[in-house]
Amino acid sequence: MSKVSVLGVDFDNKSFKQFQNELIGRINTHQSTFVVTANPEIVMSANENPEFMKILNYNADYVTPDGIGVVKAAKILGTPLKERVTGYDLFSWLMKLANERSLRVYLIGAKPKVIHAIQTKIAREYSDIQLVGAEDGYFKDDLEVVAYQIERAEPDLVFAALGSPRQEQLLDILRKNLLPALMMGVGGSFDVFSGMVKRAPQVWQKAHLEWFYRLLKEPSRYKRMGKIPKFMVEVYKSKKDRR
Ligand code: UDP
Repeated sequence: MSKVSVLGVDFDNKSFKQFQNELIGRINTHQSTFVVTANPEIVMSANENPEFMKILNYNADYVTPDGIGVVKAAKILGTPLKERVTGYDLFSWLMKLANERSLRVYLIGAKPKVIHAIQTKIAREYSDIQLVGAEDGYFKDDLEVVAYQIERAEPDLVFAALGSPRQEQLLDILRKNLLPALMMGVGGSFDVFSGMVKRAPQVWQKAHLEWFYRLLKEPSRYKRMGKIPKFMVEVYKSKKDRR
C-alpha cells in the first residue's frame, strides 16, 4: 500500500531510503516539495482542525510517520507502515547534503539563542552551505509577510521550526506559491541540532522510549503528552469501526 491512513491522516508508506531517493530527485529538478513529518500530536490536532487536515492530505507532497506511536497505530489497524521516518533524521541528512552540494538554505524558527548557535555550527562544520536566511521563530509579522521574505532569498531548502500547525501553515503558503524548494517543518529539531537540547541516547531510541526521555528532560511536556493515550484510544476505536 502506498498510503496508509491513521485516524484520517494519509501517510506515505516508504522507507527512509525511499524518501531520500525521491527527495534527491525532486531537489535535482527544483520541484516545489512540501514534507510534513507527522507525530501522534499532529494527527490529533488535524482531527480537531479541518484546515490543518486539508494541508496534510491535499497540499503536502509527503507525510512521513514521525514517531513510534504512528508506526504502532498503523500496525494495530492492520495496515503496517515500513518504518519510522523522523523529521530530525531527514533534517540532519539534508543539512549534510546541502553542505556537499553548496545548497541555499533558509532556517526559520526556535529561540534567538538557538538560531545563533546554529549559525555558528554551520560556519564551523557545514561551511559550504549558503545560509540565505536564519530567523528565530518569535516574530510578530503575518505568515504571508514572512513567506514573501523567504521567497526573495531564493532558497533550495527551507526548514521551519515553529511548532505545529504554524510551521506547516507557513510552508503551505510557499508551496501554493510554487517556491521551487524542498520545504519541511521540523518541530524541535533546531534545538537538538544546535546542541542546546540533547536527543535521547541510542539505547533509549532503540527501545522506543525517546518520548519518555524527552518527558524526563522537559517535564512541562507532560500536559501535551496527554494527547498520546487519547491517540491510542482513538486508534483502537477506529480499528473496531473498520471491522
Ligand atoms: N517555537 C517558535 N516560535 C513559537 C513557539 C515555538 O519558534 O512561537 C519553536 C520552539 O522554540 C521549538 C519549536 O518551535 O524550537 C517546536 O518545538 P516543539 O517542542 O513544539 O516541537 P515538536 O514537539 O513538534 O518537536
